[in-house]
Amino acid sequence: MQIKAPRGTKDIIPSESYKWNYLESKFRKICSLYGYEEIRTPIFENTELFQRGVGDTTDIVQKEMYSFKDRGDRSITLKPEGTAGVIRAFIENKMYADAQPTKLFYMIPCFRYERPQSGRQRQFHQFGIEAIGSDTPSLDAEVIELAMQYLKEIGLDNLSVSLNSVGCPVCRKAYNEKLRNYLKEKAEVLCDLCNERREKNPMRVIDCKNEACQENIEDIPLIADNLCSDCQIHFDTLKKYLDEMNISYEIDKKIVRGLDYYKRTAFEIIANGLGSQSTVCGGGRYDGLVEDIGGPAGNSGIGFAMGAERLMLTLEANNVEIEKTNRQDIFIVTIGDMAKLKSFAILKELRDNNISADKDHLDRSVKAQFKYANKIQAKYTVVIGDDELENNQAALKNMETGEQKEIKISELVKELKKEL
Ligand code: ATP
Ligand code: MG
Repeated sequence: MQIKAPRGTKDIIPSESYKWNYLESKFRKICSLYGYEEIRTPIFENTELFQRGVGDTTDIVQKEMYSFKDRGDRSITLKPEGTAGVIRAFIENKMYADAQPTKLFYMIPCFRYERPQSGRQRQFHQFGIEAIGSDTPSLDAEVIELAMQYLKEIGLDNLSVSLNSVGCPVCRKAYNEKLRNYLKEKAEVLCDLCNERREKNPMRVIDCKNEACQENIEDIPLIADNLCSDCQIHFDTLKKYLDEMNISYEIDKKIVRGLDYYKRTAFEIIANGLGSQSTVCGGGRYDGLVEDIGGPAGNSGIGFAMGAERLMLTLEANNVEIEKTNRQDIFIVTIGDMAKLKSFAILKELRDNNISADKDHLDRSVKAQFKYANKIQAKYTVVIGDDELENNQAALKNMETGEQKEIKISELVKELKKEL
């Protein structure tokens, strides 16, 4: 029986991977432009990190984690998101002792046990950044701007920023009381999960995906209307900075985000025209997270994560084409055994000179070699046989124009460098 890839996973084969390379290299470039450096953390962590760092009343922790016991009976989890691991590494490597802010980016696979559908997989990928070590809204503004700039550069412009403030422990204390009282009245019409979360983390109810719940809590009190003065100032200052950078946004007071650690700024970037899986980027501030997972106090941070598969879908939906650039510069067509042998040295010289080159590996006829050269979109071909080797003379053919010219084999590299 044929073995298939696990449900919810996808292969990224060459007809797709060049697009990934393009998006990744663009992401690297913009991160370095803004002073963000790459961090690579393990693909699995101790389960406890996500229970504490993502929050044990979240969908991710309650329903979606890939957790298992390893052979040493430790509970291990494949990372469902990037921030918790980055913050653990920030603490473990004492990065807080360096000059702040610490600006990091990552491109990672993530794992969530979800019902697979378009834009929703069990292994998917995130591009993200984290800016740690400052609680002023200027980093919030930079992080949102970087995300928008990246999306614009890869060709997306039909985007909108939804912005909210989810407050801090100070304003949430009074607000949560208000919410609990409101939700107590609704106990009979809420789903089981909402009722379970109602006492422990009432704001989670706003994020419930159940439509009936949503209809029944239309007039629920919202945190953005209940901010303490510090949070209000932070929010207003951020808006001022975004205005200054000409970034338009809409306030969406119902954004609470799927992770428990968010404080103050929460935002999403929506790609218009992608239906239900339209959020390509989600982010927010997580003051207190460093402390929550055992680090020193006073290391605030903000970051975002973009879903790479959703980016890909959005590009397709907007008819943005990514050019395939990995054409071979030249294909060497060989005739006879001597040419086959000598072609190794020619290939090596070409490749040593940064010219991408290939030759036949299937003992094809000359005609079939040309056909293959066409298929791989080689820009040039050169035919080498006994006569050519003897005379140090061969025909270099431009496969696009059909033009042909006689060159010395010993000057192939020089000739190609002129042409390419
Ligand atoms: P959603 O509401 O769509 O489930 P989320 O709030 O769970 O999203 P985040 O945890 O904020 O998502 O993750 C950041 C981004 O990662 C999302 O905006 C989305 O683009 C992408 N993403 C999340 N889950 C998946 C998945 N299962 N498959 C593909 N992409 C995903
Ligand atoms: Mg989700």
